[in-house]
Amino acid sequence: MPERDQASFRDHIATVNEQGKRVWIYPKKPSGRFYRARTWLSYFLLLILFSGPFLTIKGNPVLLLDIIHRKFYILGFRFWPHDMYLFGLGFIILIIFIILFTAVFGRIFCGWICPQTIFMEMVFRKIEYWIEGDATQQRRLSAAPWTGEKIWKKGLKFLIFYGISFFVGNTFLAYIIGKDALIHIITAPPGEHLAGFTAMIIFSFIFFGVFAWLREQVCVMVCPYGRLQGVLLDQNSIVVHYDFVRGEPRGKGKRTEKSDLGDCIDCHQCVDVCPTGIDIRDGTQLECVNCTACMDACDAIMDKVKRPRGLIRYASYNSIANGISRLWSPRVMAYSAVLALLILFFSIVLVKRSPVDVTILRTPGVLFQETSDGTIRNLYNIVLINKGEQLITITLKLVEPKVGSVSLVNDLHVAGNDLLQSAFFVDLPKDVIKYSPVPLQIEIDADGRVVEVFSTAFVGPVSP
Ligand code: SF4
Ligand code: SF4
Repeated sequence: MPERDQASFRDHIATVNEQGKRVWIYPKKPSGRFYRARTWLSYFLLLILFSGPFLTIKGNPVLLLDIIHRKFYILGFRFWPHDMYLFGLGFIILIIFIILFTAVFGRIFCGWICPQTIFMEMVFRKIEYWIEGDATQQRRLSAAPWTGEKIWKKGLKFLIFYGISFFVGNTFLAYIIGKDALIHIITAPPGEHLAGFTAMIIFSFIFFGVFAWLREQVCVMVCPYGRLQGVLLDQNSIVVHYDFVRGEPRGKGKRTEKSDLGDCIDCHQCVDVCPTGIDIRDGTQLECVNCTACMDACDAIMDKVKRPRGLIRYASYNSIANGISRLWSPRVMAYSAVLALLILFFSIVLVKRSPVDVTILRTPGVLFQETSDGTIRNLYNIVLINKGEQLITITLKLVEPKVGSVSLVNDLHVAGNDLLQSAFFVDLPKDVIKYSPVPLQIEIDADGRVVEVFSTAFVGPVSP
């Protein structure tokens, strides 16, 4: 890495000046093969994102995180609040996967898949180029006084920005409250759904603020993933890298046999296109979202000066400095082992997950009754959650004590992905109650298969 750059670039970020004020970034419009590939991938991902709330699998939403009603669907499977441990475990697996992926491939996710980058670079930025022109025109327009042209261009831009933000905000809201609830809020008068309507407006303004004003600051300052790059990356991680061995010493002079200049002609194109305003030639930096714009810009220059492409490319520091490409470092192996174990554990837990969730409680406020035949009766409430897709029939059997009986108030048929509340009686002969409460064990069978043995208690008058 060039010595001269080591001293300065880590002391400040490109978007804040010496007075601590925001430096607005006007990146040049990128073009090239990576940008084209990212554009098509972005359109595909946007299509999935916007159609997501309307997609169903066997009638269930593909993704719904309804926190308010505690309804969670992932890939059409319903998860209940009781399954939160699965979410916890899944979340830990995701974190380990991200750590592993980042250790190997750096921040590739940010450049290609992250919704923030996709919306910023592929939607909002494109509209900005369309209305205000490329970087130079944008800079000129911002510095110009508020003429009719400026008001028209800025006004139109922000109007479109807000419209898209409203659309984006509603889409994210649909993932939380469901498409039907969202359509209802949109079609009914605001007064009928003040909370939902307020949420829509707040969501829209948050997105508008992010894309119209906050922009790259989200990646540089706000995003925790970005902030963690310092500990996640190492010298073997593959990131967008400037080949300083090939490029230095940089300079504009003519390349002759006697000249010791490297391939970098110091044209500044890689800096001009960078949406976070950094100079990748300074080395890997926290601000770099691996968007590949500098790779495209430099490739275009290399084509012009008839040098091989890839002066800025996906590479590890080790491969450039020492010619060593090493994906399987001890750290990567350790992460992979932990990840494999966690996935195995998660799979076992998932397979062994009971298809039915049962909660039995003695009915509050009801003591025991003595029936005409002299047995003692307790009333219980039962809540059943069928986590499967098919309708199931539940039967209850008294396991402990061996004498006594269970009688249901209603038949217990629970539809797939549904919840049923009911009640049942347990009758015990008086002479069994030698102490109170008597521990009870009730076997719960779903379609004849034992799914759980539930422990509860029975109260009654103690026999001498
Ligand atoms: S675009 Fe390439 S040649 Fe131009 S300054 Fe950047 S690294 Fe050097
Ligand atoms: S340095 Fe290159 S890859 Fe990184 S953010 Fe800037 S343009 Fe994108």
